[in-house]
Amino acid sequence: MRKVLLVLLVSVVGLAAPQITPTPFRFGLIYWVDMNPLPLPRCYPSPAGIVANMFEFFGFPSPETIGEWWVPEKAEGADREALRAQLVAEGRLSPLGFLAPTLEPDTYWIIRPLKLGEREISPLVLMLFPDVELLNAELRNYMISGLFMPDGEWGCAELPWEPWICDLLGRNFPPTVFVAFVEITPEPFISWSIFHEIAHWVFHVWLEENGVPDELVPPLLLEGLARYTEAKVSATPEILVRCRELAAVWAQEGSLVDTPFPLIYEVGASLVEFLVQKMGWKEFLSALPSFILDWENYVAAWEPGWRAWLSTKISDQAQVLYQAELQLLGTCTAMVNPLFPEARKHVQEIRSTEDIVQFWNLLEGPVPGPSPELWAALERRELTFLHVAKALGREDLYSQALELLADLQKLREEGNWEKYVALFLRGVREIIGRVSETLEVPVP
Ligand SMILES: [Zn+2]
Repeated sequence: MRKVLLVLLVSVVGLAAPQITPTPFRFGLIYWVDMNPLPLPRCYPSPAGIVANMFEFFGFPSPETIGEWWVPEKAEGADREALRAQLVAEGRLSPLGFLAPTLEPDTYWIIRPLKLGEREISPLVLMLFPDVELLNAELRNYMISGLFMPDGEWGCAELPWEPWICDLLGRNFPPTVFVAFVEITPEPFISWSIFHEIAHWVFHVWLEENGVPDELVPPLLLEGLARYTEAKVSATPEILVRCRELAAVWAQEGSLVDTPFPLIYEVGASLVEFLVQKMGWKEFLSALPSFILDWENYVAAWEPGWRAWLSTKISDQAQVLYQAELQLLGTCTAMVNPLFPEARKHVQEIRSTEDIVQFWNLLEGPVPGPSPELWAALERRELTFLHVAKALGREDLYSQALELLADLQKLREEGNWEKYVALFLRGVREIIGRVSETLEVPVP
């Protein structure tokens, strides 16, 4: 299967590498992708403020910087890895720090680790994109609005990003948060995802501190805890109300153990909120390592209490949101945006199940004729089918996505726009929306 995938990937046309500008950041480094660096105090929410609050929330002291972070020391060398080895040997660079390429050729900044109490931790790279579309395009994934990566293993090997990202971050890939600016206010506004992604980073540090390997953490807990923390640290209690409502709808037909991927954020956050209300946040954190090590037994024991805690009257609105979430309508919208730009507004205004049916009907309508921009915009989205199938953990859908990609590639090479678009939209419907499995109301 891997071989097929690699052959397909070679055919994906890369974007021209964007302009990257580094600026020092109190907790590491910021890379500005295709945009001029902004003075951080003008950006809302403030990245440094979120980092400090998040560490405090997890019971840590605020990470301290070593030396003058605002003027990083420079080092020069033609071979980055050789330079790194030399600096580490000379004691000028800690193995936890990293060498960041600057705008000058063969010149690097030495980014020092942070001090967390007595311990050193890796600093953070914050990669900021001017908009979500570019973030999706460069990561070749239209399922996300932000991302945290503790290392480059996944994005630089398995389902690759645009190659410049791996070149930039190098072999000693530092913990990295990818987020974008969004147009909400005239002031520069960073997507709220930044709370969620920084929560992932701090939880990663917390796991290290407690000697728990990341891969032992079940997805329901990983995403549920990030969503819970995001709501708490951003002081947005509405997030948790929504999670509880969606979890209540899910609890009518499923359980904690078989929560499907599109719902793990909400169901997971509801479980964390339930446990924290029962035992307190501090106690929850101290018990967390034992919970993780014996997860299945704990979940089975919590299930009846969690259900009883949830049982509220379910609103029609929650039912509709639940269905939209289960069908990953946000991802579907991002996928079809070049063809149906009006779909985004339609999805934002969904109020009833009929509105969801109408969304799918909209995709049956006429599409614009081919243009080089549209071909490129859809091609950039193709790998998302694999990302979704993988996230859903469905081998059947993964094979279906691989086949779809091969067929799309063929039609692209033939320049058969009509058939290509029809097949692309079928993929959105069957692999991402899984309409036949997830839509309760028959589609006319
Ligand atoms: Zn997450």
